[in-house]
Formats: sequence, structure tokens, C-alpha cells
Amino acid sequence: MAAYEYETHDYDVVVVGAGGAGLRATLGMAEQGLRTACVTKVFPTRSHTVAAQGGIAASLSNMGPDSWQWHMYDTVKGSDWLGDTDAMEYLAREAPKAVYELEHYGVPFSRTEDGKIYQRPFGGHTTEYGEGPPVQRTCAAADRTGHAMLHTLYGQSLKNNAEFFIEYFALDLMITDGRCTGVVAWKLDDGTLHVFNAKMTVLATGGYGRAYFSATSAHTCTGDGGGMVARAGLPLQDMEFVQFHPTGIYGSGCLITEGARGEGGYLTNSNGERFMERYAPTYKDLASRDVVSRCMTIEIREGRGVGPNKDHIHLNLSHLPRETLDLRLPGITESAKIFAGVDLTKEPIPVLPTVHYNMGGIPTNYWGEVLNPTPANPDAVFPGLMAVGEAACASVHGANRLGSNSLIDLVVFGRAASIRASKVVDAGADVPVTHKPSVDAALTRFDAARHANGAIPTAHLRLEMQRTMQADAAVFRTDKTLAEGVAKMTAVAGKMADLKVTDRSLIWNSDLMETLELANLMPNALATIVAAEARKESRGAHAQEDHPNRDDAKWRVHSLAVVDGAKVTLSTRPVHLEPLTKFEDGGIDLAKIAPKARVY
Ligand SMILES: Cc1cc2nc3c(=O)[nH]c(=O)nc-3n(C[C@H](O)[C@H](O)[C@H](O)COP(=O)(O)OP(=O)(O)OC[C@H]3O[C@@H](n4cnc5c(N)ncnc54)[C@H](O)[C@@H]3O)c2cc1C
Repeated sequence: MAAYEYETHDYDVVVVGAGGAGLRATLGMAEQGLRTACVTKVFPTRSHTVAAQGGIAASLSNMGPDSWQWHMYDTVKGSDWLGDTDAMEYLAREAPKAVYELEHYGVPFSRTEDGKIYQRPFGGHTTEYGEGPPVQRTCAAADRTGHAMLHTLYGQSLKNNAEFFIEYFALDLMITDGRCTGVVAWKLDDGTLHVFNAKMTVLATGGYGRAYFSATSAHTCTGDGGGMVARAGLPLQDMEFVQFHPTGIYGSGCLITEGARGEGGYLTNSNGERFMERYAPTYKDLASRDVVSRCMTIEIREGRGVGPNKDHIHLNLSHLPRETLDLRLPGITESAKIFAGVDLTKEPIPVLPTVHYNMGGIPTNYWGEVLNPTPANPDAVFPGLMAVGEAACASVHGANRLGSNSLIDLVVFGRAASIRASKVVDAGADVPVTHKPSVDAALTRFDAARHANGAIPTAHLRLEMQRTMQADAAVFRTDKTLAEGVAKMTAVAGKMADLKVTDRSLIWNSDLMETLELANLMPNALATIVAAEARKESRGAHAQEDHPNRDDAKWRVHSLAVVDGAKVTLSTRPVHLEPLTKFEDGGIDLAKIAPKARVY
């Protein structure tokens, strides 16, 4: 291997990722007086969070009665009883606080007539523990909520003297004697290499939507944090649960927010029928996402799709008042025009369920600390390492995330991680010294990728992986498709050793960067399909045609996947059933969240 020089940086905390989760953690850490570096492969405000349109859930009760207990109930039911009770309680309870903090930091929320934060209805959010009408719980800055959040959090982080390392690509974690002590990174614009020594490392690298062919997520969503964790021998959790958003624009996959249905939009089939009324009589088009996606897929499979190939569905918004479109949904008016050529004041938008969110990820407790479960201690913490945001699995979304519950997850757990760090990171202690064997291992892998001289271009293998995942691990799953998918994906992963990189440069080498990203996507994709094949039940986003029922006796457990090359080893971890607060002390009535059939 060529000898690589590297520069070292010492910090209390290094955060990898500058999306909503990474920025909220960075800001919180810096506010606590911890010396904090934020390393990010794209400019902070270009992180995928910028694309979040619909909004952020919190029971503020600005538009009518609401409570954190109702929010928690909806989250439990949305999760199909796979979420961890303590984490879901923490999310729902802390959500209003986290949103008011955002307001005070300067997020320009839309307003009601009397100046309160505007809230809209979103799928699966209800009143009276699912017995009452839909609730308006989703706080919005028009249809650009994520954009507003990122700009505000980035500005506030700078104000608090967090230091940003922008367009640095984190390669691998440094592990010293069973503790994470920082990361190794490659600076994309000048080719230099960097070692960040830190007392605490926070992974906030986002999801891995790009493991699939059609996704609403940005091309940067390549599961880099999951890849780093897998290479460190740590498990990934609940990877079989991948959310398909009902309304990706047919063809491009570009998202039309659920807020469009929240504002009164509805779906129709080729008969012009508003079919969701048939499947979900109470909440109709605002049933939870996995339910709506599955119903759309049934309509198409039974021959009632629209278009010449009867392969998509219509989303109707033309009946909405012009004012609602202009004020509440300006961004999607534009997206519909650009990506579907549709004037949504006159015509319906062609839509199709599209990969949107990864419920699974790096297992953590509700403080963001990464877990390294053992049979004796399923909640054992891996020291020096945290994970927040879509990269993590706390687990609040369980088998299916509710719309607008991710943005709130980013800020609640980004904030929780910084509260915890203020307790476990000693600002006065020495920063760990560079762990040379970890650096050597990271740079050897980097060098091997740079000089990869096999037969398969990275883009070809990536496409093969994406098509396999799309065909065999999508909305409808059977024993047969999943078994075939596992065999195919194992073969695809086996070809990683035969990649060919043509550009040997260290500067702006997108061929090399995409190869490193593929090396991160691969363990995420493998864990997804192997865990999906193993789970013989239907729960949330994992709808298995050969096992159509939920099996709580056997499968109300988190799955864990340790990935080593093309080999995946599975185990399980119990779901946390204990709440944080007892009912007598103002907590939720556990009888309300006991498992039952999930109907909307
Ligand atoms: C189109 C769209 C619309 C959505 N709308 C909503 C919504 O309205 N409400 C809601 O609640 N949720 C929504 N979601 C989901 C939500 O936006 C995401 O789950 C969330 O934004 C993820 O945030 P994050 O901070 O975890 O990661 P991201 O925002 O994806 O940021 C990841 C960060 O990690 C950095 N990074 C990654 N790998 C590396 C590496 N190797 N080295 C250095 N840096 C790295 C990137 O540079 C980036 O800064 C939407 C998602 C999409 C795709």
C-alpha cells in the first residue's frame, strides 16, 4: 500500500453527518461547552433533510385537543407494536419541548390566524387513542419544513462555535480496546486524509434508500454509518422494515408529501374510485403509509391501475382551493409540473409507492448510545459511540414510521444525545490518542478501493444490487421471492472483490467515492433481505404473503444482523415493554397500548 500521510484533529465530540439529526446533536454538544467537530460529505444544508416537506409531529394542541399520550399511542400502533416503549414515550413527551426550541432558534413555522405554529393532519395521527377524528399534529413551515430546520440549526451551530469539516468523507471508525475513539476521513476536494480523535463519536449519516432502484431519498443516502458499524463487527437492527411512501411521482420517484392528502387530496384508481374508503373506512387516504402503499399495490395487481400500462395510481388535488395550494403546498405544485408535467389545479398526479425511509439501523437506547447486545445483556452499550436520526434505530418507528415522526426523531434524539454526552464526556479529560491499527486498517481498505482493478464497474454492480432489492424486497414479499433475493444478493455482494475503479486520483474522485458508498450500501442491503427472509410473519412494512398475520408470540422481537462480507448472522433482542413513567405518576395507561389488530 502507498504510504498515506494524515493530519490529526482532537475534539471532545465528533459528529458524522450534518442533516437534521447531526446538526441538532452538534448544536447541543457545542451548547454544553464540548469541543465539537461536525464532519459531513455534503454541505450541511444539502443533506437529505432539506427535502422534508410535510412537517414535524408534536402534540402542541394548536388546532384542537391533543396529548402526548395520544401521540404515543399512534406511534405504538404505527410501529405495529415493535417499537421500544421507553423510547416512544420519550419521543412523544419531549416532542413539544423540542419543537418550541426549534421555534426559539428561529425556524420560520407557518402560523395560524392568532400567531401559533400551524399544524396539519398526517396519516396515522389520531385523537382519543385511535377512537376519535384525525388530529392536526404536524407542525409545518409551508412544504419546506426540513429546509427551514437545516438553515436554522446550521446557523445556530456556527454561533455556538461548532467546527465544520465540509466535504470530508468519513471512511471508518477507530476502535481502541472495545471503545470508539474517533473516525478516519478523506477530504474530497484536496485528497488529504484526516484522523479525528474524540471522546465521543456520533453517527448521523442518514438512511440507505439508495440500496433500492426507485427511492425518494437523495443519492447521498448510502447508509455509510451502517457500513462503518458493520465493519466494526457491531449489529444492525430491524433492517427488514423499509418504508414505501404511497406517493412518489411515477417515473422519477420524486416525493409528493403526505401533507397533500393531509390538506384534502385523495387517491383514485382507473374507475375513478376513491378506493381507500373501501380499505380504511375511518381514516381513508390518511391511514398509515404501509397500509396505503399495500392497498395501491393491490389495486394495480388486480388491474385497476391507471395509465396505458395500468401500473400506477392518481393523486387528486385539483378540487382544493387555489389558496391552499399556493400557501400550504407551493413546492409540490412545482414538483408536479417539473417531474410529471402536470398542472395540479387541473389534472391528477400519477403516483406509485416508492422507497422512502429505513426503520432499521444502528441499535441505540433512547439516549442515542449505540448498543452491542449480548445474550446476558441485550442493552449493553458500546462505549464512545452514539447514533441518531435515520441511521439509528432507537427504536421508535418499529415496523413502520408515521409521517412527520422522523423530523421529530431527529431533534428529540439529537438533543437527547447531547444531554447524555454532557454527563458521560469529561471535557477536562485527555482526548484519546490516535489508534494506529484502526487507521492502518481504514487506509488499507481505502487504498484497495482506489486501486481496485477487477472486471466490474461500480455503477454496474450498484445497479444489480438496486434491481435485486427492488424486485425481491419491496412491498409484497413471499417465501420464494425472499429466498431467491437472498441467494442473488449474496452473489452480488460476493462480486465486491471484482470491482474496477478507473480513476486513481485522490482529488474529486467520484468513482472512488461511489465505490466506498457501494461498500456501505452492500451490508445494509444484505442485512435487509436476509432479515426479511427470516421473519415469518407480517408486521408493518414487512408484509409477507405466505405469513399474512402478525405473530406476537414468536416475532415481537427486534432482529439483529451482524454482516461480515457476504455473510449475515442473525439473532434477536427483546422489545422494551416498560414505560419510563408509571401510570400513577402521569404516564400512559398500558392497557391503551396493549397489542391488538391494526386497523385504520
Ligand atoms: C423527500 C423526503 C421527504 C421527507 N419528508 C419528511 C417529513 O415531512 N417529515 C418527516 O418527519 N420526515 C420526512 N422525511 C424523512 C426525513 O426527512 C429523514 O428521515 C431525515 O431527514 C434524515 O435525517 P438525518 O439527519 O438522519 O440524515 P440526512 O439528512 O440524510 O443527513 C445525513 C448526513 O450525513 C452525512 N454523511 C453521510 N455519510 C457520510 C460520510 N461517509 N462521511 C461524512 N458525512 C456523511 C451527509 O453529508 C449528511 O449531512 C422525508 C424524507 C425524504 C427523502
